[in-house]
Amino acid sequence: MSDALAFIREELQKVKEAGLYNTIRTIAGPQGAWFEVDGRKCLNFCSNNYLGLANDERLKRAAKAAIDRYGVGPGAVRTIAGTQTIHLELEEKLAKFKGAEATILLTAGFTANLATIPALVGKEDLIFSDELNHASIIDGCRLSGARIVRYNHNDVASLEEKLRSETDCRRKLVVTDGVFSMDGDIAPLPDIVEVAKKYGAITMVDDAHGEGVLGENGRGIVNHFHLEGQVDVEVGTLSKALGVMGGYVSGSKELVDWLKQRGRPFLFSSALTAADVAAGIAAVDILTESDELVKKLWDNARYFKAQMQALGFDTGVSETPITPVMVGDAVKAKELSKGLFEEGVFAMAIAYPTVPHGKARIRVMISAAHERNDLDFAVEKFAKVGRALGLIK
Ligand code: PMP
Repeated sequence: MSDALAFIREELQKVKEAGLYNTIRTIAGPQGAWFEVDGRKCLNFCSNNYLGLANDERLKRAAKAAIDRYGVGPGAVRTIAGTQTIHLELEEKLAKFKGAEATILLTAGFTANLATIPALVGKEDLIFSDELNHASIIDGCRLSGARIVRYNHNDVASLEEKLRSETDCRRKLVVTDGVFSMDGDIAPLPDIVEVAKKYGAITMVDDAHGEGVLGENGRGIVNHFHLEGQVDVEVGTLSKALGVMGGYVSGSKELVDWLKQRGRPFLFSSALTAADVAAGIAAVDILTESDELVKKLWDNARYFKAQMQALGFDTGVSETPITPVMVGDAVKAKELSKGLFEEGVFAMAIAYPTVPHGKARIRVMISAAHERNDLDFAVEKFAKVGRALGLIK
């Protein structure tokens, strides 16, 4: 390593000393209720595989058939190498599923935010962003060059006050996560839309943790609040409840057309693979046909939260299957995670900078892949390790 990079050694050391070093575990097989982590069979409480679709036979079959028909690589960006018919098919299905006019696919939810925000606003504009918005929204905002005004988390009065006082701009964009990934709380979207409309602002919601979870058959936050046609921009991901990989943006035909002209990751990064797209189609079909998985996810979440609260754990402000187990201290949260791992439960500690200082937690991701006895197993282990660490009585 050249001397110019010597700072990395020191920075890594500091991260380790602060107890914030990320240790990435190795998984030997597919995502599911149970998996093998670093050679140990563990209950999976970490993945965003809300509906258990990541290893679903129907999705795998669809992906394999798509490889036989379309090959493995997209060749180039769609504006140069053309759009495969399968991409158009998924875009149509997603638009219908989300109750929007049109949808554009991107390679990830992260990329979808990076593509969209700079295509909508620039230097002359203002973005009103919830203070707890996801990193990909924050990066999209920064990339746009617009001035960013942060409003208090889920606080519509704070948003309105900023919208009222900040007037010196060409356009205004209000952007929020739909479901906040670290706390599991839901944005008050009807009120946000109302206030944004009053001040002539564009509204944008990132539904990464809402689709497959909220609304009829998991259609997401817009359906949950019956706001179809009222939210200008909806960002989504295939990488969580839908079990695959990829991102998308839904809205008007004009919005999607504009993103095909100005969304830089769409214009300069290759398309999603046919296998991902085909698996995405299978996932949307499964959800459209039945709400069985969505119901099971919610049953599991309610059961687990009730058991944990009865033990004395603080599960935060979650309104969704995301279940934070609040600890506070980052080192203690890591100890809880380590103790759980030794007992066969893989549940990661989340600390600064992903959540604010002093708000470290174990974030439990409940899935429809879990069975009731899996949840009982986990509750028993949380009780054992939590008591040993003095977190509960
Ligand atoms: N938005 C939100 C709110 C997210 O939680 C995530 C994933 N952590 C993303 C976007 C990025 O999605 P993807 O993994 O598809 O890039």
